[in-house]
Amino acid sequence: MDALKGRILREGRVRPGNILKVDSFLNHQIDVAFLQEIGEEFHRIFSGRPITKILTIESSGIAVACMTAQSFGVPVVFAKKAQTKNLDGSLYRSIVRSYTYGKIYDVVLSRRFLGPEDHVLIVDDFLANGCAAEGLIDIIGQAGASLEGVGIVIEKGFQEGGKMLREKGVNLHSLAIIESMTDNTVVFREE
Ligand code: 5GP
Repeated sequence: MDALKGRILREGRVRPGNILKVDSFLNHQIDVAFLQEIGEEFHRIFSGRPITKILTIESSGIAVACMTAQSFGVPVVFAKKAQTKNLDGSLYRSIVRSYTYGKIYDVVLSRRFLGPEDHVLIVDDFLANGCAAEGLIDIIGQAGASLEGVGIVIEKGFQEGGKMLREKGVNLHSLAIIESMTDNTVVFREE
């Protein structure tokens, strides 16, 4: 998606630890009109699939998931970072290692909002090592739902997540794939 690549080049900031900050349109300030274009692009890519729900993880995936859900006319459900150990069986639960904070945490999703009848598109802002996506795929498996695809705004192609998901046969599409980045340059993978 050329408009996205242009914004990354103009507005992105590379931080230590291979973190790309795109706070001016995606992760802090949100450019809603631009995210609507992103949602429409995901709809174009995945419209052949019988999607009933968009699934993401709080908090940074929620905005892009909402815009995508609007294009599909389906709800968003987001996995929450768990505050307590809930043992009453009303939740799906998985473990995720946070790329940006380096911590391991539980994520939970109410069983009310995902079941065997659902066809799910996972959407997230970034793909790095694939832990967030793996946790969400685990929850889809617990629900007996069908994974229809994974839509990522920015994939860091020099990290392992994309390779791992594609090798598993996941229908993964990323709108921009970064091949390499240094302090002052970002290079995209040719498609
Ligand atoms: P993964 O689980 O694939 O290792 O990391 C994906 C998650 O970590 C995303 O949900 C995103 O919130 C965060 N993340 C990973 N890399 C970056 C990055 O370079 N910049 C930002 N802003 N978030 C990132």
